[in-house]
Amino acid sequence: MLIDEMYIRGVQVNYYFICKTKLWLFSHNMNMENESDLVKLGKLLHLDVFEREQKEIQLGSIAIDVIRKGDTLEIREVKKSDRLEKAHRYQTLYYLYYLKKLGIRAKAVLSYPKAKKNVELELNDEIEAEIERILDEIEDICKREMPKPEYKKQCRRCAYFEFCFS
Ligand code: SF4
Repeated sequence: MLIDEMYIRGVQVNYYFICKTKLWLFSHNMNMENESDLVKLGKLLHLDVFEREQKEIQLGSIAIDVIRKGDTLEIREVKKSDRLEKAHRYQTLYYLYYLKKLGIRAKAVLSYPKAKKNVELELNDEIEAEIERILDEIEDICKREMPKPEYKKQCRRCAYFEFCFS
């Protein structure tokens, strides 16, 4: 199903930047995270979104506002911290890429209130080519053996911590 695919690949793009082991584990259906998020994110593409000016979707600790501006959608995501900004950025760019494939024009704003920072995101040819390269690489990583876990700062808060380090 398309919506599931958007969610799964969006998370994979995020994990690609955070940890290749996490990416591999998630991709091999060892998903220990909240699956109901998938249902919630599914609403992002639900027709309802197009019938209202603005809709808020809560995904775990992340709030996404979808705003309709003429024939363009704007995705707004509020993030607590910009520590993993690159992963956030590419996950969101992937959503824009995916929506474009569905014929939906969209742009996005990542908002970091604590850091008083807004990051505007829009696709261009270069970014699209990069997303395609990342998707190819993700496929490649998933076909190979599981990458060896390497301890890093975010491991303590990772759902796979016990699996990797016990
Ligand atoms: S615990 Fe660390 S090494 Fe293991 S999957 Fe999570 S982030 Fe990656």
